[in-house]
Amino acid sequence: MIPPAGEVDAAAFWSALDDGTLLVAVCGACGHRWLPPLATCPRCASRDVASAPAAPAGVLYSWTVIHLAADPAYAAETPYTVGLVELDDGTRLYGRVVGVDHDDLRDGLRLRVEIDTAGEQPLWYFGPE
Ligand SMILES: [Zn+2]
Repeated sequence: MIPPAGEVDAAAFWSALDDGTLLVAVCGACGHRWLPPLATCPRCASRDVASAPAAPAGVLYSWTVIHLAADPAYAAETPYTVGLVELDDGTRLYGRVVGVDHDDLRDGLRLRVEIDTAGEQPLWYFGPE
């Protein structure tokens, strides 16, 4: 049995994002990269976990167009796209896809990581490369 890992200190992640850098967790044992930060690798359970800047771009792997927002705060933005993007370093992560017409969405579409620091909390999203 694998003992539970302690809480993750995500302060470095949020601080870097506020400065315009998206960090991903990197496993020192198997090389897997992921988000959100976890103390234990979700692939091999190693606790040899570090952080590294994410690749700046990748390809659209899957997506959905949201027509009915689950939270009223997003209702005025519908329809909008949430995509699963595979970055060039192998990290797969979800985020909004902005600036791409819904009819132009396709597997393998090149997208780049963008970071919005204008609000209270910085957010990453994907835009056309
Ligand atoms: Zn691992």
